[in-house]
Amino acid sequence: MSLIKSFPSQILAPRPLPDSAEQRIYRGMQRTDLPPKGSLDHIETWVFDLDNTLYSATSRLFDQISDRIGAYVARHLDIPRDEAARVQKKYFHNYGTTLRGLMLEHEMDPAEFLAYVHDIDFSPLQPHDRLNDALHRLDGRKIIFTNADTPYAKRVMAQLGIDHHFEEIYDIVAANYVPKPYQPAYDLFLERHPFAPDRAIFFEDIARNLGPASEMGMVTVWVQNAGTWDLPGNDTVTPDYETSDLAEWLHAVLDNR
Ligand SMILES: [Mg+2]
Repeated sequence: MSLIKSFPSQILAPRPLPDSAEQRIYRGMQRTDLPPKGSLDHIETWVFDLDNTLYSATSRLFDQISDRIGAYVARHLDIPRDEAARVQKKYFHNYGTTLRGLMLEHEMDPAEFLAYVHDIDFSPLQPHDRLNDALHRLDGRKIIFTNADTPYAKRVMAQLGIDHHFEEIYDIVAANYVPKPYQPAYDLFLERHPFAPDRAIFFEDIARNLGPASEMGMVTVWVQNAGTWDLPGNDTVTPDYETSDLAEWLHAVLDNR
C-alpha cells in the first residue's frame, strides 16, 4: 500500500546506495496528514527514531555530532578537514552512516568513534512537555530504534524528560553496526524485540529509513526535518503519513480516537 520500491538489503560488500532523483518526494503536494478516525486503534508497538525525530533539528544538536564526526575522520585518516567533510558525506550516503564506511573501508574500531562523536553539549535540549504528555497518553509498548548508541540515546531522552517512557532501546551496537536503512538492521531488531509489525508504527525523520519498516507491514510516519530530504533513496519510499511536529501529530491522533 505504501511502498513503491524496496531498499537494497546488501550490506556486507561495500556497495553504494543507489542514486536518486534530486527531488523531494512530496514537494508541492498536498497531503492528508492525520489518519482516519480509528485507523491506528490496532497499533500496540510504537517505534521511534531518536535524532531529529524526538527533538527538532532546530536545536542543532546533530550539527555538533556532525562536526565531531568530521574531526574524527580527519584525525583517523590523517587528512585535512575539508577532505574529511567530503569523505564523511560520501560514507553517510553510501553506507547509511559514516561509521559504517570507516568500518568497511578502514577497519576502524567503532567504540572509540561512538564515544568521541557523542561527547557534545546537550544543553540545547530542554524538557519537551507536549511530547512527554503525548507519550503518556499512548497505550502500548514504546521502543527507540537508533543509528546512535544507547548511552547517548539515554542522555538525549533524559534532557527531553521522556526517558521513563522507553524501556527498550535498539541501538547501532545491538544492530552489529549495520545501520538503517539496511534490512538486516530491521531483521535483528524484530529478533531482539519481538513484536507484530502489522500492529506497529514507525516514526523517522530520514524517509529512506521508513522503507524496510513499511515493507515489514508497519505504518510509517515521516517526521520532516530540515536537511534530510535530499539523501539517496529517500524518493524510493512513500510514507503513510508525514508531519513536521511529532508531539502535535500524536495529540491530534489521540484526540481523534
Ligand atoms: Mg533521525
